[in-house]
Amino acid sequence: MMKCVWCEKTFEGKVFPVVAKAKGKKEKQKYVSDEPFGLEVTVPGFKFKGIAVSEDSPFKKNGYDMVFCACSEKCRENFMIAVKTRRKSIFDLLKSLK
Ligand SMILES: [Zn+2]
Repeated sequence: MMKCVWCEKTFEGKVFPVVAKAKGKKEKQKYVSDEPFGLEVTVPGFKFKGIAVSEDSPFKKNGYDMVFCACSEKCRENFMIAVKTRRKSIFDLLKSLK
């Protein structure tokens, strides 16, 4: 069971993930871990919960440091818009996965 990054409902089944790259070397250091761990990202008006991925995960191998899980395409869109419009510089890259 997971909690949606946007509506915070608990859900099962299909996940709509968003991956992100931490900005810069110093930030990236914070997300180096053998085990995934929970994290919180704040933008004005919002606090979003995500997961820092482990070093051996396929996400990490593609350069991504964290993943956020949404329950629907709509929630995923709202989340990405909120981050992008409120605080552009928080991540090096924010990308939705199919
Ligand atoms: Zn949702």
